[in-house]
Amino acid sequence: MDIKSLIARFPALADAAAQRETVWENPAVRPFDEAKSRLPLTEADVDDAEARLARFAPFLEKHFPETAPRRGVIESPLTDIPHMRDYLNERRGARLDGRLLLKRDSDLPISGSVKARGGIYEVLKHSEELALENGLLHGDYTVFDTQKSRDFFHQYAIHVGSTGNLGLSIGIMGAAIGYRATVHMSADAKQWKKDLLREKGVTVVEYASDYSKAVQEGRALAQRDPRSYFVDDENSADLFLGYAVAARRLKAQLAEMRIAVDAEHPLFVYLPCGVGGAPGGIAFGLKQEFGDDVFCIFVEPVQACCMLLGMATGLHSGICVQDFGLTGLTAADGLAVGRPSGFVGRAVAELVSGVVTVGDAVLFDDLRALADGEGIFIEPSACAAFQGAVKLHDMKQLLASQNLTEERLRNAAHVAWATGGSMVPAREREAYLAAH
Ligand SMILES: *Cc1c(COP(=O)(O)O)cnc(C)c1O
Repeated sequence: MDIKSLIARFPALADAAAQRETVWENPAVRPFDEAKSRLPLTEADVDDAEARLARFAPFLEKHFPETAPRRGVIESPLTDIPHMRDYLNERRGARLDGRLLLKRDSDLPISGSVKARGGIYEVLKHSEELALENGLLHGDYTVFDTQKSRDFFHQYAIHVGSTGNLGLSIGIMGAAIGYRATVHMSADAKQWKKDLLREKGVTVVEYASDYSKAVQEGRALAQRDPRSYFVDDENSADLFLGYAVAARRLKAQLAEMRIAVDAEHPLFVYLPCGVGGAPGGIAFGLKQEFGDDVFCIFVEPVQACCMLLGMATGLHSGICVQDFGLTGLTAADGLAVGRPSGFVGRAVAELVSGVVTVGDAVLFDDLRALADGEGIFIEPSACAAFQGAVKLHDMKQLLASQNLTEERLRNAAHVAWATGGSMVPAREREAYLAAH
């Protein structure tokens, strides 16, 4: 299908095709009670993931001392960012009432990004299965921290295709368990991420092409070896469930901060989106917890708005940004994905309120504003979240159909999901902070 006929069929995509920032409201969004029965996964699946992470906590606490303060639970702080809210209202055209909070997955232990949820979860799940099948595990999960265990896992390989952060999570955890880990990196991946992985003994294969190609190659290689496991970011229910657990943790943090979420107190969550797994899994989890009181908005780069194209056309992984004349190139390396996950697009088709896009220059403005106003550094990809907060008032159908009156909006809480940043080396940080 050519671009012209796609736009004729989907006029809402005209701005996206013209490489302009856009706001897309999802006409398929349904009340959660209705949507729930059509979802491929359930609350019990999230229970299972949460319980598995709890079983692994003693191992994580022992092997990764930075997880000790939370007893081996990989979790991040939730922080009020009032100065950033003022900046967005005064300088970026936002109209936010209520509190703006930052969910700081940028500070997640072990790998410093949201991928420390899904990616690490999938490695742990696979390891538990192998250990049980082979009689290695008898209840005490600190066994994974022994040389005997690492020798056992060294017979096995693990592969993943990545723009960077997923590779860090899979590579670091894979190497810690003992796997021979290989990360297939797309051209967008930053040099320091490759260097860090190689230091940890991970094999890094570099591709001149984009993320989809890196995934394809990794998948093909892994298939040839029966002792090899491929973490499939485009189709993985395990990654999705690892991300979904975040919602329960957020719920507890909101309660601790005495921030109500109910019919009178809506919650808006702004999620940077690449292939879709992280924002999709988190949105799925949030809907389980808060139903129709939470509104999830995805944000993508103008040049890499693959989930927008997939959802708006209903073609999901059957369409890519190049079909629309977009480059897929962006400074938001974690979001530099040309083709969305079909699994995720279908799973969240009735859950997500909309998708907003953002130009690269704005990401750096917001990055500096957050650093100046709040003293918090996050990476460019993570800054995409703020564009969702800026554009909320342009989502007229959402506000009208959900009866989000000015009064209800005054009671709202807004969460910008900061998806990465703490691992970025000082040299790179300075370059980001200086960029104009
Ligand atoms: C991977 C990533 C995302 C998006 O996650 P997807 O599962 O690819 O949609 C957002 N921000 C950062 C920093 C990431 O690394």
